[in-house]
Amino acid sequence: MGGPKKYSVEFFGVFDTVTQVIGYAESQSKFDYFSNKIEKRLQDLTKLYDIYNTYEGISNLKTINDNAGKQPVHVDKDIINMLKFSRDKYALTEGRVNIALGAVLSIWHDYREAGISDPKNAKLPPMDKLEDANKHTNINDVVIDETNDTVFLRDPEMSLDVGAIAKGYAVEIVAKEIEAEGFTSGVISVGGNVRVIGHPSDGVRKRWGIGLQDPKAEINGTQNLLDTVFVKDSSVVTSGDYQRYYIVDGKRYNHIIDPDTLMSADKFRAVSVVTADSGLADALSTCLFILDYEDGLKLVQSIPGVEACWVMKDDSIKATDGMKKIMKKLGGATGSEG
Ligand code: AMP
Ligand code: MG
Repeated sequence: MGGPKKYSVEFFGVFDTVTQVIGYAESQSKFDYFSNKIEKRLQDLTKLYDIYNTYEGISNLKTINDNAGKQPVHVDKDIINMLKFSRDKYALTEGRVNIALGAVLSIWHDYREAGISDPKNAKLPPMDKLEDANKHTNINDVVIDETNDTVFLRDPEMSLDVGAIAKGYAVEIVAKEIEAEGFTSGVISVGGNVRVIGHPSDGVRKRWGIGLQDPKAEINGTQNLLDTVFVKDSSVVTSGDYQRYYIVDGKRYNHIIDPDTLMSADKFRAVSVVTADSGLADALSTCLFILDYEDGLKLVQSIPGVEACWVMKDDSIKATDGMKKIMKKLGGATGSEG
């Protein structure tokens, strides 16, 4: 039998999570060629977008943060473009997603890490500490010089945290590059940040079926899916309260911080976004997790080609009409839709 066959591979070590690549190719070696390129490129971008580690011979986001208030840092175009993209998303989300929130987020990060390793003594960050840090989160103090390819943080106390956007942005870069090389039917999932290329080349299916995790699954210990969404040439990105969190006095505090309250966002269990660009999907899922449902819905409806669903605190589901149409359980989709 001719025709492409389905292959898959899993690897660890990029963006601190598991990556899965699935795709149709003419042969195992052709698939390996594509998946190796994807892995290598994701490894490079992981280093560039890392805020915690320094790598020999590389100027990355940590280098920029370390030089805050001191000097501009010469960086790769992949950093310049990602920061410009993120600055646009600050405007789009009216400041809800702010990569200059590092001073606040690093306090939450430290308290969360401490609380996870010593749950009995888990504490919330003091509000005065958060408020002080919040004085150093002005996105206009991120100075991007595109002529010289430098980035300078004008405020010595500020720092960048690109956790809300960089993974999705990186997946988009890699998907576009590998598609141009001839990988025309596949799925790249970096820790659940999913980008699909084309549709499955099995001569039957018109769309890839992507599982949405049930936020309750982690507690029940089941693999139950909330639903399946059917997509082609698109991204599916979820922000959820089960992804990274700690418990203080019996209450869960997740990793997404509302810049207005400086507290962890508490309105939903999860929000998923479907749209072509994985970087946009990543930025919007974080934003929608912070906004009220009504405001989030308005934002989604104002951007062409974006669909979303919200898992409410009582586990009920709300979704845009376009999202329902591609959902298996909620909308009766089968994946055979064109
Ligand atoms: P995500 O899982 O894409 O929703 O992104 C969550 C990550 O983004 C967190 O772990 C933080 O690193 C970062 N983050 C949290 N809150 C914000 C915010 N309001 N603006 C920008 N980044 C944030
Ligand atoms: Mg995000």
